[in-house]
Amino acid sequence: MNLSERKWCGWGLKQSPDLLKDKRNSFWNWLRELSGFTELPHTLPVDINSISLNEPTLPSTLISELETKISQGKITSEPIERIIHARGKSYLDTLALRSGNLPDVPDIVIYPQTKEEVIEVIRWALFNNVAIIPFGGGTSVVGGVNPIKGQNHIGIATLDLREMNRLINIDTKSRIACAESGIEGPHLEELLQKEGFTLGHYPQSFEFSTLGGWVSARGAGHQSIRYGKAEDWFVGAEIISPPGPWKTEAFPASAAGPQIKDLIPGSEGTLGIMTDIEFRIHPLPQEKYYNAYIFPSFEAGIEASRQLMQTDIPLAMIRLSDAQETFFYTAMQMGGGDPSSLPKFCLMLIGLEGDSPCITAGRQIIESIFANHQAISLGEGIADQWFQQRFLLPYLRDEMLDYGLGVDTLETATRWNQLLDLHEAIHKAIQETIENDPDQKPQFPIVMAHISHAYLDGASLYFTFVFPRSLKDPSQQWHRIKNSASHVIRYHKATISHHHGIGTDHKQWLTGEKSALAYELLRQIKYQIDPKNILNPGKLF
Ligand SMILES: Cc1cc2nc3c(=O)[nH]c(=O)nc-3n(C[C@H](O)[C@H](O)[C@H](O)COP(=O)(O)OP(=O)(O)OC[C@H]3O[C@@H](n4cnc5c(N)ncnc54)[C@H](O)[C@@H]3O)c2cc1C
Repeated sequence: MNLSERKWCGWGLKQSPDLLKDKRNSFWNWLRELSGFTELPHTLPVDINSISLNEPTLPSTLISELETKISQGKITSEPIERIIHARGKSYLDTLALRSGNLPDVPDIVIYPQTKEEVIEVIRWALFNNVAIIPFGGGTSVVGGVNPIKGQNHIGIATLDLREMNRLINIDTKSRIACAESGIEGPHLEELLQKEGFTLGHYPQSFEFSTLGGWVSARGAGHQSIRYGKAEDWFVGAEIISPPGPWKTEAFPASAAGPQIKDLIPGSEGTLGIMTDIEFRIHPLPQEKYYNAYIFPSFEAGIEASRQLMQTDIPLAMIRLSDAQETFFYTAMQMGGGDPSSLPKFCLMLIGLEGDSPCITAGRQIIESIFANHQAISLGEGIADQWFQQRFLLPYLRDEMLDYGLGVDTLETATRWNQLLDLHEAIHKAIQETIENDPDQKPQFPIVMAHISHAYLDGASLYFTFVFPRSLKDPSQQWHRIKNSASHVIRYHKATISHHHGIGTDHKQWLTGEKSALAYELLRQIKYQIDPKNILNPGKLF
């Protein structure tokens, strides 16, 4: 991990890949027209060196005391470290970083090397009332790593876990591995694949997110149909909490009452710091088959997806774009297109992974189900291209922000019988809010979605929306869009998040989703484990 190669206020590496190539000029010109600008504004981030930070509130004597317990040089209050740990990667986070207006940054950043050091940090924080922000890759898109402290806290320490990144062991018989929580995606997969195994968890943020972050946020990788969501492959963990270190159960199955380990995925650092995590692994698949199809409508694609999910074939991924997303990605390749004559057809990418005979049988079943829905195969080339570029799209967001645009995503999940209605209602809510924006009116708002993850009983919907950014109050503009979509999600009794988590951004919707009683139970558990609320205050609860 070399942080100096990474952008301080955007996605990924400073050396960004060029997605648009020779279509660059026509693509931006096209987006300019849709956004209603005569000229795209230049809205670059401030220079990081021009940002002035508040002085740390933690007394230096306390920092010195902690320094005696932590490996040398692993506590820092360098301004650059405080800035890059001040926010995650949400739209609001990125706006805040780019503006340089950062009233709240951590006082110090700690890079623990061992679980004993994490124990020392928690003891010190508990004794001195210091808020601790667990930090994995910092790719949270819900405000999950933002430095918030409670009234009683005298300061904030961010605990960056990325130097705790060892693969501890692989039990090939039980197909369970154990690794330190700060290990990043590529490093983890490299070590597992050397031994012929994979975890198979590939979120779009794979390159820069960590095992601990995936579990904490109940994340989902692209191939979650085969490899599971984080809560499915999570076996157990060692956790450091204010009462001390503890381990969750880690049985293949158990009827010994409710399982405490079920509290950990989705706990977002509020119940403890996971140091070692056990997770299920799979032998590398003998074969992978990815293909692209065109469906005559979103409805036909949804019905075919449902039927496929209810077969036994080794599906790894179903990704069904709606007509708007299909159009947008085609326009990206072509450098433009006319949105007023939007075709209805929808792109589906489908993936199978597993043993060759199962793949062969699976392909036949796909062909027969898809034929009933008038789907046309586009061949493996388009799917290959998606596979090559699947981690690159987020780089485009930074360019959009440089050109006066706003772009964000949101996601939810519901049952098959609700999916089409929910899709339509969220789409309408976002589109109308963007169209009625008091500050910036687009020519054509870009609102698009895809089914990103599928289950026996339903699927997730993942929306992306691009809009001319209000330069007066971009944060209020975002809240208007987010609130309109979230109201619709709750009205349709869908979940407020399928895989991004709660953080700060979804907190207000949580009680409604869980019920007052269930929420209070969770709050009491939090209080029991962390009565001084030193663990990631302001998130989830
Ligand atoms: C471009 C982009 C694409 C994304 N794509 C996906 C996707 O496809 N699927 C998906 O699921 N998510 C996605 N995300 C969201 C994000 O990457 C996930 O939530 C991811 O799981 C966060 O991992 P992280 O290591 O970055 O954790 P962080 O962002 O550092 O932390 C996330 C939460 O976990 C807590 N935490 C971290 N480590 C620990 C630990 N060891 N112990 C206790 N608490 C801890 C933090 O306090 C925080 O509350 C995407 C984000 C971006 C910016």
